Amino acid sequence: MITSQISQINQTVLECLNKTDEISIVGAFAELGQKVLKADFGFVWIDSLGSRELKLVYKSEHAPFTLAAPKEGGRNYNVLENFIPDYVTRVKKSKNRYDVSKYVQSFVIIPLTYKETIYGTMVLCFKKLKIFSREKKVICEYIGNSAAQAITIGRLKKKENRAMHVLAKHEADLKEEQLRNQFLADATHEIRTPLAIIKGNVDLAILGDNRIRGSMKKTFNAISHEVEHLSNIISDLAVLTSNKVMLQSSFISKKVDLGNIAESVASRYETLAKKKKISITTKIARNVAISGDSIYLERLLSNLIRNSITYGKVNGRIRIEVSRRKNRAIIIVSDNGIGISKEDIPRIYDRFYRADKSHSSGGTNTGLGLAIVSWIVKVHAGTIGVKSSLGKGTTFHVSFSALKLD
Ligand code: ADP
Repeated sequence: MITSQISQINQTVLECLNKTDEISIVGAFAELGQKVLKADFGFVWIDSLGSRELKLVYKSEHAPFTLAAPKEGGRNYNVLENFIPDYVTRVKKSKNRYDVSKYVQSFVIIPLTYKETIYGTMVLCFKKLKIFSREKKVICEYIGNSAAQAITIGRLKKKENRAMHVLAKHEADLKEEQLRNQFLADATHEIRTPLAIIKGNVDLAILGDNRIRGSMKKTFNAISHEVEHLSNIISDLAVLTSNKVMLQSSFISKKVDLGNIAESVASRYETLAKKKKISITTKIARNVAISGDSIYLERLLSNLIRNSITYGKVNGRIRIEVSRRKNRAIIIVSDNGIGISKEDIPRIYDRFYRADKSHSSGGTNTGLGLAIVSWIVKVHAGTIGVKSSLGKGTTFHVSFSALKLD
């Protein structure tokens, strides 16, 4: 007898394995409970996630009344606390509003508990007097535990489904980004050559054709300038879009002396700085090396220094420092130029973002310089920070893990 009831319970557990909907899991067990214990109707209360408050999630269709919500200190909560069913054989007439004695002669409150977790209670009601034999009590406990087990599995499954969903979305996003990057990489490659040809021809015309004079020469110069701007954008885009591929293939990790790079980039920018009467001073510590790609690290420094000149004031100062602090290699590039406003700071590393619109128009800046800097910092597992105040100047601070001294 008991074995057939237990096998029915096991069958319900199996059927619930595919379910994540708690209400339908609980409903299946409440109906099973009524069937195997020959109850007339039932109710299930479960906690709303993370709180002790019990909510009615199941009520038999033919239940002649609705139970009042359990109260702290009442029978349902006692069952939750003690983990053992409460068997009431003979319901006495009660004076309170919820006298159920005319509908129910016996009932059992079964805790739905699995290991340390309590989900709620199942109440099975009997119109006629019911004697709860030892066998029936075992079945009650078994139903409670099995229902709780099914709820546990359901909640885990729900969590897993959510995680799978997030993962699938990540994968789709990644694929989309790869496709976009591939497209940009191909497009930039295709655009580069004709641009170089246009620029070559325009420059040749300006220099070599003496019929080009006056306003015509101005137009040609403007074309040359814009083509140069376009070429800069294209070459910056090429760096940014081929990054993933580069990471795997052409990124060369070698010992790089940051001081040497800083010195050589600084001296390359002397002439440009002089045009604005900007002085560049350096304070370079010896033997500050990291493991990285010298071409990209050079690019990082030249983008920072070029910006300091572009956004520097006439007669201004630029200071470049390379130092070691504990096991970190530090690069600091600071200027006393126009500065960046507080609102703009969070966006300066975005692609194509330019805070200072007046310098943006007409210049050959692409708004990609800092996006590239930030990418180079990232692939070298470094950090970058900026301090700036409008009208006073800007300091970029880059830090990498330093190689140990030989
Ligand atoms: P851009 O090609 O426009 O210079 P970047 O990505 O290098 O693009 O810089 C983004 C924006 O950040 C710039 O347009 C400028 O407004 C601001 N910026 C960058 N460096 C400095 C600096 N040293 N001083 C003031 N503003 C700066």
